[in-house]
Amino acid sequence: MDPRATVEAMLRHDLRGRTAYGAPQLDVPVALNTNENSYPVPAVVVDAITEAVRLAAAGLNRYPDREFSDLREALAAYLSRCGTPVVPDAVWAGNGSNEVLLHLLQAFGGPGRRALGFTPAYSMHPIITTTTGTTWIDGMRGVEGQGAFDLDVASAVGQVVVHQPDVVFLCSPNNPTGTALGLDVVDAVHEAAPDALVVVDEAYAEFARPGTPSALTLLQGRPRLVVTRTMSKAFALAGGRVGYLAADPAVTDALRLVRMPYHLSTQTQAVALAALANADLMLETVDAIKEQRDRLVSGLAALGLEPVPSDANFVLFGHLPDAGETWQGLLDRGVLIRDVGIPHYLRVTAGTPDETSRFLEAVADLVPTRTGAAP
Ligand SMILES: *Cc1c(COP(=O)(O)O)cnc(C)c1O
Repeated sequence: MDPRATVEAMLRHDLRGRTAYGAPQLDVPVALNTNENSYPVPAVVVDAITEAVRLAAAGLNRYPDREFSDLREALAAYLSRCGTPVVPDAVWAGNGSNEVLLHLLQAFGGPGRRALGFTPAYSMHPIITTTTGTTWIDGMRGVEGQGAFDLDVASAVGQVVVHQPDVVFLCSPNNPTGTALGLDVVDAVHEAAPDALVVVDEAYAEFARPGTPSALTLLQGRPRLVVTRTMSKAFALAGGRVGYLAADPAVTDALRLVRMPYHLSTQTQAVALAALANADLMLETVDAIKEQRDRLVSGLAALGLEPVPSDANFVLFGHLPDAGETWQGLLDRGVLIRDVGIPHYLRVTAGTPDETSRFLEAVADLVPTRTGAAP
């Protein structure tokens, strides 16, 4: 008997026929497809991380600190730099913010419960939701007469009232569209869903344009509100797998019920602490990346394409006759970007100046021939 058929027959009914998350991991000269930080970890921090892991190595015979107390303290201090004090008990961390989101759904979702997100948004939100047996409700973005991917108070509140979800996902700045949400939307959604957990995914917060407020400023007095962050993007530590959230300590306490004991390894905690102790160095490239993001927006517009304004380290751009064909054409020229499944649009990560140049040159190579061919 075919082992695949045997396994398929055992598999949970709701997982049958599904395909796994699969951003291609290809060896290409210019990789601008998963919003990583293109710059390597600075040499000084490489040394600090190496020393921290060396010191921790002899203690690997013991389980790690289950409460990751030092890490929580360091993450709370980092978040507090933005102006809103966050106490260590209000912080939770996991192996990437994806695991933190999983913990939230394990604790507050599950069979019989529903999570609402506003699509297009982060593709992992529905995947994490459904793997926990939670029902996913595909809400919509788009405001008549405004940006096609905006989400305004009336639309968000209307959808929350109709669907009565148990969990609501907001993503700000939103992946893959790039724009941040006004706090009026966050607050209105929170008010409109009086029993729901409202999760604001702020993976790209450090890249937001000046004056973009964080939902961290709303946490006080709102125990149903959660703000998730990650060290994978601005912090240039995607391989370290560290994500975290800030919420009422009652929420973080509840998450202890679902996490596996000792889920953050000794090495992970050591690496993250060493990186956080050098936060300024780790974040040194953020301004340079924002410059490249703005260069992508103007460069793409100059080529007659339609970039969406971005508060993140990537740009979604449209007006492509055939996005799949452009994606392949770029790959043939050594540039890997992301097809997020929105017809006529592609998403490109902002990296180094050289990567921007190579991307824009490759696009110019592909696009004018088509616009030039138009009548
Ligand atoms: C990249 C990304 C994350 C990060 O996931 P990690 O597991 O922390 O690497 C989370 N949310 C969004 C919206 C993202 O784009």
